[in-house]
Amino acid sequence: MSAPLLEARGLTKTYREGQRTLRVLDGLDLDIAPGEHLALLGRSGSGKSTLLNLLGGIDRPDQGSVRLLGEALSNFDERRRTLLRRRHVGYVYQAFNLIPTLTAQENVALPLELNGAGAATALEAAADLLQRVELGGRLTAFPDQLSGGEQQRVAIARALIHRPALVLADEPTGNLDARSGRQVLDLLDELFSDRGHGLLIVTHSLAVAERAHRVLTLVDGRLTAVQDRLAW
Ligand code: ADP
Ligand code: MG
Repeated sequence: MSAPLLEARGLTKTYREGQRTLRVLDGLDLDIAPGEHLALLGRSGSGKSTLLNLLGGIDRPDQGSVRLLGEALSNFDERRRTLLRRRHVGYVYQAFNLIPTLTAQENVALPLELNGAGAATALEAAADLLQRVELGGRLTAFPDQLSGGEQQRVAIARALIHRPALVLADEPTGNLDARSGRQVLDLLDELFSDRGHGLLIVTHSLAVAERAHRVLTLVDGRLTAVQDRLAW
């Protein structure tokens, strides 16, 4: 068996709200294999975004560990986590989160530039990938000139341009109509299969979960495999 791409053990995360502490994750374990495509379900407020932030190194657990490509991400300080994330993780958010002052092409080029590529090389690669997501004609558009579906396709290109080992998508179709949502998912699948990274998609959508190799739910701070697909 190949070594896990990602290995999370005993993750615990609590938030304090005034006098109360809220234990969002409670000893959670998760492995993701290279090339694996996971869907994560769970009601609103169950901790899905919190988990993604720990897996991607945006935040640290109170207890437990995250290893990405064998590196103990959760032990790193913020600067080292940022460097590891930049190189190996791609993030797709529900609200797109493109940089409003950069064009589509510049948004997509940014991760390559942050990883040390020259501007010309990065822009050329961004143009190629935008072509793949059918936005080759909108390279110089700013995010506010694009529809939601178009912005999310730019965001997917940005998440994949540096060929990350792990792609984390947090309700990527949550702000899109059904048709744009399907197009975004088709693209994630298509680009997923030719790049071979691990993919974890948080979703409420049956259609999204049906495309995954494995479906998990987050309940009471831990993950459970969903065996019976009809039980959704
Ligand atoms: P989900 O993505 O599944 O909807 P979240 O991970 O966003 O859930 O949130 C899980 C719980 O933790 C919610 O009750 C939320 O209010 C709380 N929470 C999330 N982030 C914070 C924070 N920074 N401070 C306090 N509470 C938070
Ligand atoms: Mg969330």
